[in-house]
Amino acid sequence: MSIQPDSASPQPLRDAAPTADEARCVRLPAVHLVLSDALCQPLIADYGRAQTLAAARVLLAELRADMLARGADTSGHASQSSAVTVPELIPLLAQRLKAANTSNLRPVFNLSGTVLHTNLGRALLPDSAVQAVVDALRWPMNLEWDIDTGKRGDRDNLVEQQILELTGAEAATVVNNNAAAVLLMLSTLAAGRDAIVSRGELVEIGGAFRIPDIMTRAGATLREVGCTNRTHLKDYAEAIEAHTGLLLKVHCSNYAITGFTKTVELPELVPLARQHKIPMAVDLGSGTLVDLEQYGLPHETTVRETIEAGADLVTFSGDKLLGGPQCGIIVGRADLIAKIKKNPLKRALRVGKLTLAALEPVLALYRAPDLLPERLTTLRLLTRPAAHMRAQAEAILPVLQAALGADYTVTAEAMMSQIGSGALPVEQLPSYGLVIRASSARISNALGALEKRLRDLPVPVIGHIAQDALWLDLRCLQEPQQERFVQQLQQLQQPAP
Ligand SMILES: *Cc1c(COP(=O)(O)O)cnc(C)c1O
Repeated sequence: MSIQPDSASPQPLRDAAPTADEARCVRLPAVHLVLSDALCQPLIADYGRAQTLAAARVLLAELRADMLARGADTSGHASQSSAVTVPELIPLLAQRLKAANTSNLRPVFNLSGTVLHTNLGRALLPDSAVQAVVDALRWPMNLEWDIDTGKRGDRDNLVEQQILELTGAEAATVVNNNAAAVLLMLSTLAAGRDAIVSRGELVEIGGAFRIPDIMTRAGATLREVGCTNRTHLKDYAEAIEAHTGLLLKVHCSNYAITGFTKTVELPELVPLARQHKIPMAVDLGSGTLVDLEQYGLPHETTVRETIEAGADLVTFSGDKLLGGPQCGIIVGRADLIAKIKKNPLKRALRVGKLTLAALEPVLALYRAPDLLPERLTTLRLLTRPAAHMRAQAEAILPVLQAALGADYTVTAEAMMSQIGSGALPVEQLPSYGLVIRASSARISNALGALEKRLRDLPVPVIGHIAQDALWLDLRCLQEPQQERFVQQLQQLQQPAP
C-alpha cells in the first residue's frame, strides 16, 4: 500500500521570521526520532511500523521540499520555514495514515431518486440476509456438502427448491449476475448455432452489456428478425433453419418502444419453438417473483407467468426487483438446466457462499407475500407512501436551510422516483423531497459546488441536478438513518476551501 502525498501544501508550522541560514538549512526531525517518540507509538500500534515509517518519510520529504521552496523564494518576503517539532508532526502523520486506511467502498445516502441504482449497488438487503452473510463470513459452511448424507453436494441445491416453488420451473441454477446467466445459456444452447432475436429487443443495458456482444462471446450467431418497431410471427418463422439453436426474447429494460409497434408475445412464439423443437428462452432482466400490483406498483411480468406461458428457460437478476444479492438465476426445463450446469463456464461464473447466504433468506421472505412490503427492503422502499417522505422533508428542511445560509433556498416538494435498473423504465413513483436552488444567479456554478460539498460529507449525499436545482429525493432515506443524515448537515456550514 502506498501513502499518496497530499496535494495540498502543509500548513506553516511556525510563524517566526527565519534567518537566511534557517531558510537554507531546513530543520526537520530525523525520521527515527519521529518513530521512537512516545506520541508515535499509538500510530505504530494501529498501522504497523513499516507503514508508519513509510508515511513519516513521505511527510518529511514533502515538508522539506515545501520549506526549501519557501526558503528559495526570491521575492524577498520572509520565509516561513523553520524548525518543526515531533509533537507538531504527529497529528499530520496521523491524518495521513487515517486517510490512507479509509475504505474506498463506503456507505452513501442515495437521494438520487433511483431506488435500484446500479452505480450505488442496487438492492439493499433485509437484516435476515445481513445476519446470514455475517455467519457465512465467520463460519465454515456446508456450501457443497450434504449434511444428511455426509457426501459432496451441489451449491445450487441450497436455494433450488425455493426458486422452483416461487417460479413453477422444473430446475434452477445460480451464477454471478444476469449477464453471466445469459452468456452461459447462449454458450450452452446456441454456440455454433443461430439465436433468433427481434430487432426491437437488441438491448444495451449499460455498463457494456449488449445482447449482440454477448452473443458473439458465447459463440452464437445473432439472427436479427423484424424491424425496430415491428416484428411479426412470420419473421421468426422464416428465420428458423436447421442450425437454429434458440429463440430468445429480451425484456425491454431501460426503454420502451411506443407508437406504431408490434411485438410477438411469448404465448404466440412458444408453439413455433415447440413445432421446431427449439428452446424458447426469455431474458427477463428484473426477477419479479410476485405480482407487484398487489402492492400498488405497476405490473411487471413475473418469472412464474413467463414459465407458465411456455418459456423453456428464463434468466433474471437477483439484485433488481427480487431485492437480493447480485446474482443471475436461470430457471426452466430440467434437461436444459442439466446441460447448462455441465458447461465448464458454469464453474467460472458460479456464485460464492456470501451470495447464497444472502439469497436464501431473501427467497424465504417470499413465502409470506402479505408481509413482504414490511420485510423486503427493496419493496419497502418502492412502496413507501409519499406522505412519509413529505414528513421527513419538512423535518429536515429548516436544518438544511440553516446549514446552507442565504446563498441557497430550500423547499420541500413533490417529485417522482424511478425504480431503476431497467425495471419498468417508463413508470415513476410519486415521492417527496428537498429541492435546493441558488438564491442568486451571481454565484457561478453554485449548484455544482453544493453538489460537491454534499459528496464531501462523511457519508456522501448523492442527489441529482436538473432544471437549475439540486433534487434530494427522500424515498431511500430510511428512517433509522435520518438522524445521521441530519447530524452531518451541520458540516455544510463551512464551505470547502
Ligand atoms: C439488467 C439486465 C441484464 C443484466 O443483468 P445484470 O444482473 O446486471 O448482469 C440483462 N438483461 C436484461 C434484460 C436486464 O434488464
